[in-house]
Amino acid sequence: MVLWFVLCGIGNLRQQSFACFPQSHILCLKAICASKVCCSKMVTIIQTSRTKSADQKALDFARKLGEKSEEDWRSSWQDAADFGLFRRFMPEKFGGAACTAQAFSDEMMAIGQGCPDNGLTMGINSHVWTVQQPLVRFGSDEQISKYLPALLSGKSIGSFALTEQSAGSDALNLSSTAVKKGQGYELNGAKTLIGMAPVCDVALVFASTAPERGSWGISAFILEAGDEGFTRGEPQSKIGLKTLPMGPMQFEKCFVPEERRLGPEGAGAQIFQATLDWERAFLLAPHVGAMARQLDQCAQYCKEREVFGQPIDNFQSVSNRLADMRVRLETCKLLLSKAAAMFDAGEHLTQFAAMTNLHISEAFLQSSIDAFRNFGGVGYLDNSAIGRDVVDSLGGVIYSGTSDVLRGVISRMESQKHR
Ligand SMILES: Cc1cc2nc3c(=O)[nH]c(=O)nc-3n(C[C@H](O)[C@H](O)[C@H](O)COP(=O)(O)OP(=O)(O)OC[C@H]3O[C@@H](n4cnc5c(N)ncnc54)[C@H](O)[C@@H]3O)c2cc1C
Repeated sequence: MVLWFVLCGIGNLRQQSFACFPQSHILCLKAICASKVCCSKMVTIIQTSRTKSADQKALDFARKLGEKSEEDWRSSWQDAADFGLFRRFMPEKFGGAACTAQAFSDEMMAIGQGCPDNGLTMGINSHVWTVQQPLVRFGSDEQISKYLPALLSGKSIGSFALTEQSAGSDALNLSSTAVKKGQGYELNGAKTLIGMAPVCDVALVFASTAPERGSWGISAFILEAGDEGFTRGEPQSKIGLKTLPMGPMQFEKCFVPEERRLGPEGAGAQIFQATLDWERAFLLAPHVGAMARQLDQCAQYCKEREVFGQPIDNFQSVSNRLADMRVRLETCKLLLSKAAAMFDAGEHLTQFAAMTNLHISEAFLQSSIDAFRNFGGVGYLDNSAIGRDVVDSLGGVIYSGTSDVLRGVISRMESQKHR
């Protein structure tokens, strides 16, 4: 167990590379102070002045995106790429704009606020944090130059494939195997509930190269849609996040050349843990934006809707729900902002990322239900944005670790501090 935490620590140390910082920010931060707290504050100050107009642009762009037909999902994805969302947070040397996590999560909040399609906005954010980011952090120069340009330009869609039938919460209990064969590996196994699986061009796939070594025997691979023996299954129909394609994957005697292994053999658990931290900290940024949109719509409705000859926000039970929604929104923003500051300062994220994900996912669900109650019967009609947020927000308490699992991570790490 101790060794596991050391490994997690090594994974997070890589975050201290400041690879995603513009040079001017790095010099500034170095000159100010070596202390993590000062770094965090400095990042916040820089971001506050820099991102206001960027966030407004993102909001305007997202509103237009929200007006497009959801059938036209692929073209919305391309719009997101053309707007630069996939490049924004990536290092300059790889064709990115090298913004900070703080600036990018603010932008993704604006995207979620302007565009009511929670499936699309989550898919976009997931592409950055669970595919591009691990590729850039753990990939070789050859792997990055082969796969990243198409991911950034929107030509290629990525997927992060870990979950299996018996490996959801127990994520490292993988049955998929990768057996060394000649100059590569033969993959066999199946994944399920994988975001973007039906449409992905590349997939980061986790499989066991040494099952007897448990989590230490897991490795990560880059698969291409055309690989022989790699099948992307039919979309799994789901109750919410309708525009986030999800499905199974299968590998049958699928040969993957050695140069497509991501990181060293046996480093899969480390790559997974680092990616999970980023995902838990930042994936829900668009949902925080959605909470802002939801609160606006709900407050407006409660002012206009008259029952018993008065606006319903005169009723304390209705207005209490608005108050709770505002408190949840603000606490979510604060958590997200602190997680981003910690990432930008290279701090260890595991426990805080779990807290961020737990709080935001539960808050979005609770606020969606509160908004739903305030809308009365009209919220229950088909295609009501309020009703849709309820089912979309349910997904958040499951993916990136269920709320139960997240509480376990937080409490275990708390106990560790007192050993
Ligand atoms: C919309 C969506 C998108 C997804 N996208 C991806 C993706 O892109 N890639 C990917 O790899 N996976 C993805 N997943 C899968 C997701 O990560 C798993 O569904 C999740 O980790 C839960 O695993 P499970 O479904 O097997 O539930 P189970 O593990 O079977 O859990 C069932 C219940 O048991 C509880 N439980 C289990 N273990 C514990 C424990 N130790 N302590 C307390 N309670 C526990 C859970 O909290 C839950 O209530 C996605 C899922 C959804 C819904």
